[in-house]
Amino acid sequence: MSRSAHPAGPRHADVLPEGHYSAPPADLNALDPRVWPRTASRTTDGSVTVGGLDVKDLAEEFGTPLYVLDEADFRARCRAWRDAFGPDADVFYAGKAFLSRAVVRWLTEEGLNLDVCSGGELAVALAAGMPPERIALHGNNKSSAEIRQAVEAGVGRIVLDSFQEIVRVAHIAERLGRRQPVQIRVTVGVEAHTHEFIATAHEDQKFGLALAPGGGHPEAGGGQAAEAVRRVLKLDSLELTGIHSHIGSQIFDTSGFEVAAHRVVGLLEDIRDEHGLELPEIDLGGGLGIAYTSEDDPSEPHEIAVSLHEIVRRECRAAGLAVPRLSVEPGRAVVGPSACTVYETGTVKELPGLRTYVSVDGGMSDNVRTALYDAEYSVSLVSRASDAEPMLSRVVGKHCESGDIVVRDAFLPADLAPGDLLAVPATGAYCRSMANNYNHALRPPVVSVRDGEARVIVRRETEEDLLRLDVG
Ligand SMILES: *Cc1c(COP(=O)(O)O)cnc(C)c1O
Repeated sequence: MSRSAHPAGPRHADVLPEGHYSAPPADLNALDPRVWPRTASRTTDGSVTVGGLDVKDLAEEFGTPLYVLDEADFRARCRAWRDAFGPDADVFYAGKAFLSRAVVRWLTEEGLNLDVCSGGELAVALAAGMPPERIALHGNNKSSAEIRQAVEAGVGRIVLDSFQEIVRVAHIAERLGRRQPVQIRVTVGVEAHTHEFIATAHEDQKFGLALAPGGGHPEAGGGQAAEAVRRVLKLDSLELTGIHSHIGSQIFDTSGFEVAAHRVVGLLEDIRDEHGLELPEIDLGGGLGIAYTSEDDPSEPHEIAVSLHEIVRRECRAAGLAVPRLSVEPGRAVVGPSACTVYETGTVKELPGLRTYVSVDGGMSDNVRTALYDAEYSVSLVSRASDAEPMLSRVVGKHCESGDIVVRDAFLPADLAPGDLLAVPATGAYCRSMANNYNHALRPPVVSVRDGEARVIVRRETEEDLLRLDVG
């Protein structure tokens, strides 16, 4: 993924400033199908439609900023993941990427399960009718109230993250007269990055229980994970069904999963040898990458499924274990590409020799990922087509921070003007779910579109909503 300044193209700059951009695209009006929701297209009169609806009409009816969620795209991705992994696996959608009642209903209908990691997410899942046995509860610091809510509801799985939590869940399940299925989350000593992984002896982070003993190698075993297994197996109110590992996010190859599966199967082998027990489940987590820009090239679900099934089968065969049921937990890779955010262009400020700052009517309140992780996005003019030359731009929000950047480096047509609509694709994951009220911004609505019909699934926040919380 090499990115370099292009020597020609944008106006106002003989020498382009430093940045993460490549050559301007050949056609600024083109919509890369890897980045845009699959029903997005540009009409003959130049504007963009999603789900059969013109974004100009959507902006007019629902205002901007606006998240437009392509229901057909979302459902197609659910089916692709479920079909790719097949009957010997479960696909859990990671609700933290984006959760609403409509989304829960689509997941239920499409045969996916659901990961939640808070009482709030669990409440939405249950309110929308997701069968509790298809819900898993995660988190490194679940409160007793959240654990009680989950055990009472009868969730299919609680993923244990610490020694204290083993006791807490066991105690609550016992008091409620339940035997709660649990998995143990282990840290396998693999830190996944986009294109590489760094194996460390033990991960220095807050999640999970280490496979490795302090300072040792994960494959030596004997770490906190093995001790957690011993403790769980002693508790009658817990039913240990499997081992869970989640190695990171926005991962583009399966090498990190390969190491994770090898080490998790190593633990299953140790459990068999020590306890005479073969656990029936293994969960390799989520983190599968998507294309945010045309330079990203993620694998398709079926390629990932073939690869993960093969890795797990091979490792189990080598260890002489029956192949356990596999779970995966994609969040971003289901909902990320299904939505785009539509903004109205406001101030266009040209800094000669540098770039043009294009201000939009949202920013870090509706997409904090650029400020938080230096995430990269692409952006297009969607209310009309333009033949103007490419202009090196930075799309920024309206918040009182210079780090309030939506798209750090992008080429937009040089005739861009206030009132034009821009859309940032691939904003389905971790945008609305991380949205905030900085500067008392009103969080934008999510409108789902399908076959020419639009439906508000999360309404826009209002000033009354803000004042309702401010009771002083
Ligand atoms: C965040 C998370 C996921 C989903 O990650 P994506 O990058 O959205 O696929 C899956 N499992 C666990 C345990 C997580 O914390």
